Amino acid sequence: MEREASYYTTSHDGILECRLCPIGCRLKHEDTGICHSRQNQNGIMVLLNYGRLCALHVDPIEKKPLYHFLPGTSILSLGNNGCNLRCSFCQNWQISQTPVETTFLNPEQILQRTLDLDLNSVAFTYAEPSVWFEYVLDTAKLLHGHGIHVVLVTNGLINEEPFRELEPWIDAMNIDIKSMDPEFYSRLCKGPLDPVLRTCIRAVETCHVEITNLVIPGENDTDRNFHDLARFIGDNLGPKTPLHISRYHPSYHLSNPPTPLHTIARACEITREYLHFVYPGNVPLPNDDSTICPGCGAILIDRRAYTVSSIHLETSGACPSCGFLTGIITR
Ligand code: SF4
Repeated sequence: MEREASYYTTSHDGILECRLCPIGCRLKHEDTGICHSRQNQNGIMVLLNYGRLCALHVDPIEKKPLYHFLPGTSILSLGNNGCNLRCSFCQNWQISQTPVETTFLNPEQILQRTLDLDLNSVAFTYAEPSVWFEYVLDTAKLLHGHGIHVVLVTNGLINEEPFRELEPWIDAMNIDIKSMDPEFYSRLCKGPLDPVLRTCIRAVETCHVEITNLVIPGENDTDRNFHDLARFIGDNLGPKTPLHISRYHPSYHLSNPPTPLHTIARACEITREYLHFVYPGNVPLPNDDSTICPGCGAILIDRRAYTVSSIHLETSGACPSCGFLTGIITR
């Protein structure tokens, strides 16, 4: 199903400028944006992927990753085909960078599927949901109206105006900060860093936020990057913001070796100087998956990989032993 896209302007020479994300594609007739989601068709910007899903799964919410939002629950996860970044190391490049077969489901069908499965949360994830903006907005409004929580797993590359339109319907976000170095973003991702950081700051004003950093050997694994990242999160999002330090595996155009386990351990150690909750991802580091109370050391959430075996928290998110307010949302 195709429909007119939001957020674009028309210039006198018939070129359409997309205003949805900071890439700012300028499209002549029949040109398609970097994200493969928007096309100039006779002077109208057409959204090519409304309701087109390339993935639909039920996942543990920990897999998003979200460790401090509805821990131990399952979430219906929807994936689109396309992304506004072109990361040479993309771990999901098969659906973010190349066309794949899709299935149409309208927002009402997503709601019905969620209710049939007896789930209370839905994630837009796997590729980049911001380039699916119109469908995400319609679906999120409908779900939210039925008391279902809505999650975005995103690269954060969206302009302020569309973000502000979307954020009232979003309950939680996991945002990638791939590096604190703008040169890394322009060279390896073909996009800018600053708008991503601004999205993080906006998001934390209105919803639960967790951050993911994929560590690539030789590219973003310096101590300075980890200090800068954790300092940015601590100062701007707060020291209770969960950070997921994720292990990279060679993928797409990048053949650097997998991240050594000692690098992940070092990244965790450095970032814990600034942040209360740091978790290694894609890697088994013993005893590092559980949530420990920063106030008294009690185990608050006993977690192994994506499986939660017990939760010891007040409904307010406070530690039952010492009262430390964790910010964890349990329902
Ligand atoms: S959303 Fe797509 S078409 Fe629009 S500016 Fe971004 S990459 Fe280009």
